[in-house]
Amino acid sequence: MSIKILKDKCTGCTLCIKVCPFMAITMAGKKAVIDLDKCTLCGACVDSCKFDAIELKRPTNKTPNIEQYKGIWIFGEQKRGVVQSVVFELLGKGRELADKLKTDVTCVLLGHNLKDKTRDLIHRGADKVIVVDDPKLEHFLDEPYTKVLIHLIRKYRPEIFLCGATVIGRSLISRVAVKLHTGLTADCTGLDIDPKERYLLQTRPAFGGNIMATILSKNHRPQMATVRHKVFKEAGPNTSRKGEIIEETVAPTLLTSRTKLLDIVEEIGATINIAEADFIVSGGRGMKGPENFVILEELAQVLGGSVGSSRAAVDAGCMPYSHQVGQTGKTVCPKIYIACGISGQIQHLVGMQSSDIIIAINKDPSAPIFNVATFGIIGDVFEVIPLLTKKFKEILNR
Ligand code: FAD
Repeated sequence: MSIKILKDKCTGCTLCIKVCPFMAITMAGKKAVIDLDKCTLCGACVDSCKFDAIELKRPTNKTPNIEQYKGIWIFGEQKRGVVQSVVFELLGKGRELADKLKTDVTCVLLGHNLKDKTRDLIHRGADKVIVVDDPKLEHFLDEPYTKVLIHLIRKYRPEIFLCGATVIGRSLISRVAVKLHTGLTADCTGLDIDPKERYLLQTRPAFGGNIMATILSKNHRPQMATVRHKVFKEAGPNTSRKGEIIEETVAPTLLTSRTKLLDIVEEIGATINIAEADFIVSGGRGMKGPENFVILEELAQVLGGSVGSSRAAVDAGCMPYSHQVGQTGKTVCPKIYIACGISGQIQHLVGMQSSDIIIAINKDPSAPIFNVATFGIIGDVFEVIPLLTKKFKEILNR
């Protein structure tokens, strides 16, 4: 990449100086001068110049034969032979995107003795399942998984590759994207298709969650994105679906690893995983203090659910971080989410807005939480919650 001022066209208007976020442009002899040590080649000055006096050359290094890349791939993450539920969520979304692109969905399953899992993947929306079955792939290891995926992507050329933003997904897919020289959008909260250009529209919070950015990978394939668990609904099984199973074998060199798995140790301690709860009663700063969370626990207990929390309440010591819902906490998708004294800032909403039913209790009628709520109760949490608990106890006979 290179940038230069075309001196014969520069009028010395100083517009470029005003827009440069890096203070990389100064005036010398009524002409703009770029300090290349400060310039990041962001292009803001080029867009601002009315006289086409700034020339920015970007290498195009497009993926060759980009038009040959077709189909949507989902990484079929498994742990100890169990396909993770995020895969079913991605299959649901992948199917929707594939229908818009008029293409097919392929799930890629790496592991050992997994052939009995393939049918379920087809029932959940995959048209094809590519299986690489080898004892060396039984448990996830970065190197062999990366090498095998790269081999398959180079062979089949999918246009889109989706993966769960799990510990495994995050570690694996960034390696794959770097090796393939393609882009990767992490932690997407929305995916859609531009049907004309066949671009994947990858939406995620940016700048600390203050804006939602939609990111496109125009020149490289596959277009790669990770999506957090529970952002999309799981695809339900349709046992009448038929599909193709492709069994791939790979060269032994692809299965070597410099690291060795010694043991898998399950997490010790009974931490409640709110990401799996069907009912969540969540408290925010409006609960005032930790001592008041007991009324949320009572309501959660009657419903058979868990207690969640906004970050403000976690920061105030009301709940441990493992209960935080939102951008920097957990993404949840319960049947019912009851938000108590939570204003509904975007960083909280991205973690719970796909809940089936959202009930918001807030004394401020203009609180943004009411924009996403299925039912809104304008009132004081300390009056409303005990009444709800009493009523649910009566109805549910608990
Ligand atoms: P507030 O915004 O203070 O809202 C309290 C609400 O309680 C108000 O609407 C008020 O009307 C209501 N209220 C007060 N008293 C009562 C009462 N007696 N009865 C009924 N209603 C009452 N936040 C998250 O939650 N999760 C995240 O993961 C997260 N990640 C973040 C990441 C970044 C990078 C940043 C910058 C911020 C993040 N935040 C996150 C913080 C977020 O921006 C908000 O500050 C936070 O969600 C606010 O929490 P709250 O709604 O509990 O508090």
